[in-house]
Amino acid sequence: MSQLLRLTADADIERVRAELLRRGADAEMLEGAAGRAVLVRDGVDVRDIPGVDSVLRSATAHPCVDRAPATVAVGTLEIGGQPVLMAGPCAAEDEATVERLAAGVAQAGAQVLRGGAHKPRTSPYSFRGHGDEALGWLRGAADRHGLALVTEALDVRHVGRVAELADLVQIGSRNMHNQPLLIEAGRTGKPVLLKRGAAATVAEWLLAAEHILDAGAPGVVLCERGIRALPQPTRNTLDLGSVAWLLAHHSLPVIVDPSHAAGRRELIAPLCRAAWALGCHGVLVEVHDDPARAASDGAQALPLAELAPLAAELKALGQTRRR
Ligand code: PEP
Ligand code: MN
Repeated sequence: MSQLLRLTADADIERVRAELLRRGADAEMLEGAAGRAVLVRDGVDVRDIPGVDSVLRSATAHPCVDRAPATVAVGTLEIGGQPVLMAGPCAAEDEATVERLAAGVAQAGAQVLRGGAHKPRTSPYSFRGHGDEALGWLRGAADRHGLALVTEALDVRHVGRVAELADLVQIGSRNMHNQPLLIEAGRTGKPVLLKRGAAATVAEWLLAAEHILDAGAPGVVLCERGIRALPQPTRNTLDLGSVAWLLAHHSLPVIVDPSHAAGRRELIAPLCRAAWALGCHGVLVEVHDDPARAASDGAQALPLAELAPLAAELKALGQTRRR
């Protein structure tokens, strides 16, 4: 929660600001038709500061989310307007495969390359990624093919290096509640793609975004990737209702990941169409040119050859009403 301070007409704004800083409050001055106001975090006593007329508790638990920009600059792209297509392998498996897939992803018309260098895995015996070395393969391939790069920061130890090389730092579903990581990601100054925790409410998801923005991130893109619900034939349940709600009530860009939601490649195209029709700001799709041999998540990888027709179809679908 935060406090909204209304200032008297003759308040000396610079003195108010200096006094707030002295008390440890990071103040944001708001200029509005109703007069001058300051937004200050809770926990700072502000009532006796000269020039403060009245103090209101803000009704929102996430002031940074509420005033976050509706578009997020990712490399030379803007996310939050026309929907974008992000695609690539689950994991960066080797340099040649990353290069081949990046070439195919660019040729198909996608704008963003995805791929994991540090992979969260349920079993310690599964392939866990090639780490920092793979970050270099991804960056190089993205540059050669004119793509922006999104890749996951799994741990506070890696987030600095990930942020140096990625255009968009991914926080994975398993880490949505990892507050130290959210804060470190926000401090890097790079925009963050925040996946929804598999059992997270929308309110918890927004508060995770608040941690990132409060720590200094220039923007957050929310990514719905399916939640745990009743047992289903799909890996998770794609919660499009919550996506629609976020689009109606909040300004943060929202994208959909049909691969992790469905866990099945035959559902990727229909779920992309649904996301597009809803007016979301993009999709994040796992692709592979040999899904049967993928090191991870092969069952939910769209065969690379099917990406270009899907991209063309989504482009033809155009844009539904976006805010
Ligand atoms: C991923 O994008 O590769 C990933 C691990 O996704 P999630 O965090 O949604 O499971
Ligand atoms: Mn995956």
